[in-house]
Amino acid sequence: MNIYNLLKKEITQQDLLNYYNATIVYDSLPDFINGLVFNYRGINTIIVNSNLSYYNKRKTILHELAHIELSQLNQIDKDLFNFKINKYEDEADKYIKSILEVIKWKKI
Ligand SMILES: [Zn+2]
Repeated sequence: MNIYNLLKKEITQQDLLNYYNATIVYDSLPDFINGLVFNYRGINTIIVNSNLSYYNKRKTILHELAHIELSQLNQIDKDLFNFKINKYEDEADKYIKSILEVIKWKKI
């Protein structure tokens, strides 16, 4: 079970959240933070900026799920809390993009 299955609509977002032991919390965050994710005692908490549009909330959730899936949490924790853009941010976005490319390719 992974993001690929979610984007293919084979599973629901809740299915994937359960699978990753993840929960979503909506909170008002500063403008420049869409969301963040951290792991505490085995539970992944995704915090999403409640001021975002519906579409951007969905996009942010996917982005944070990509971090979980790429198992980068331990490495990025420090950077995330410094609110720095780093190479892992690019990787999470690239990961989503590559899955979407594969799905598009298969439809052709
Ligand atoms: Zn990120």
